[in-house]
Amino acid sequence: MPTHSRHCLHCGMPAPTLRLHMDMLPPVLACRKCDENLYQQHDGSNLTGDIAHHHETVGRALQKLDALLLEGWDGYYQHLRLIVGGGLIREQVLGQLHFYQRQHRLSAFREDSPNKGAIVVRLRSSP
Ligand SMILES: [Zn+2]
Repeated sequence: MPTHSRHCLHCGMPAPTLRLHMDMLPPVLACRKCDENLYQQHDGSNLTGDIAHHHETVGRALQKLDALLLEGWDGYYQHLRLIVGGGLIREQVLGQLHFYQRQHRLSAFREDSPNKGAIVVRLRSSP
């Protein structure tokens, strides 16, 4: 299995990690040196992805949503900003995000007011 690594934003200690998949969310990995959960650390940055304006079907848009969630958790992002347009994809993605929130695969989400064509997902619950 391919491994890569992240490093602790608190103390700098590197840690080998596995490639994430949806069943692993939210990932938990304690720093060997300072015991912080490495996957709750973030650098305040946003990951943005457009999942509605390349002729996506609803099914394809939901696949892209999962890929972006994994990329977000794999990185050090605080938020995932989803461009969802104003149609059926938006409705289905909001439903899926409610589902994932109940499973704790993300922390929270909200419409990017006043731009209802975008949704801001808070990945991690840490401040
Ligand atoms: Zn550490």
